[in-house]
Amino acid sequence: VKALVKAHAQPGLWLEERPVPEIGPDDVLVKIRKTGICGTDIHIYAWDEWAQRTVPVPMVVGHEYAGEIVQVGSNVRNLQIGQRVSGEGHVIGMKSRAARGGRYHLDPETKGIGVNIPGAFAEYLALPAFNVVPLPESVDDELGAILDPLGNAVHTALSFDLVGEDVLITGAGPIGIMAAAIARHVGARHVVITDINPTRLALAGEVADVVPVDVSKEDLHDVKARLGMKEGFDIGLEMSGAPPAFAQMVDHLVMGGKIAMLGIPARPAPVDWTNVVFKMLTIKGIYGREMFETWHKMLAMLESGLDVRKVITHRMSASEFKTGFDIMQGGNSGKIVLDWTT
Ligand code: NAD
Ligand code: ZN
Repeated sequence: VKALVKAHAQPGLWLEERPVPEIGPDDVLVKIRKTGICGTDIHIYAWDEWAQRTVPVPMVVGHEYAGEIVQVGSNVRNLQIGQRVSGEGHVIGMKSRAARGGRYHLDPETKGIGVNIPGAFAEYLALPAFNVVPLPESVDDELGAILDPLGNAVHTALSFDLVGEDVLITGAGPIGIMAAAIARHVGARHVVITDINPTRLALAGEVADVVPVDVSKEDLHDVKARLGMKEGFDIGLEMSGAPPAFAQMVDHLVMGGKIAMLGIPARPAPVDWTNVVFKMLTIKGIYGREMFETWHKMLAMLESGLDVRKVITHRMSASEFKTGFDIMQGGNSGKIVLDWTT
């Protein structure tokens, strides 16, 4: 069966024939229907320093997926063949204090599907039943394939109470855009999203009722004045990984403001801590999704009117993956979904 493999320690990915993965007693086998291309996959494709340090070769990559259960291990009781599912892409151990305490997302032994262990860009994926999340009728396969990044957005956006608050989101990538839709959905007042890429800002405006700001052209002081905001933003969601965006966020938050940080700077960057201290800001780092509270909230919001479908800008067959990766690397797309059934 077909799988997209990091077959050589050099840039690229290779569509190869692979055996169907074998499952253990606590695992399920999922027939993959749709997958999403993530920024992480771009790092692996480009084979940058991080990827070289992290990804074993050869290995099937990919961690954003939706499909159907076709086989269940002998110990698996709560899942059935034929169920449509997505699932958590982090496989945890059960030894650490955090995991045994039920704080699964804080387990230090976490391994990433498609990053450290075989992934989902394939016709079949084997994974622990524990990780599986059944999909409600209303969440179709292509939405199911982007629940991983939507979960990043939900985890970040719900880190602080947004009801009635003014929210600044830096970075209008797919995740920032989805976070903007969530902030709106849960009842923020002003939601401003910044970027330096006009295509991305235009997409943000199509997906969510937000104020897109090109910070290479417009000053946030003027935006605040235009919106009638006297002090600053109450909450910041950092989703660019760009050090200047973080500095700008600190400048434009209120005293006692709160920042949830998802963006990952490409390299260590200096921070002027003076403002963080004098403004008494709270900064919370965000990684992945909370198992499984984020998944619950995300599916519940999708069932109650959260609409992020327009963030998917490209759909293609898995055999056209090269085109998909090229478009992603161009930096002007939203989510790109690969179809493994055609
Ligand atoms: P992306 O690269 O598609 O989007 C980042 C956006 O930030 C781009 O549109 C870029 O133009 C914009 N940007 C650059 N400089 C800016 C500036 N000065 N001000 C405002 N915007 C600026 O990324 P994505 O896939 O949407 O992910 C968002 C971030 O989250 C990335 O840094 C990614 O590495 C990170 N991430 C973290 C986790 C986690 O678990 N912590 C998970 C997924 C992604
Ligand atoms: Zn991802």
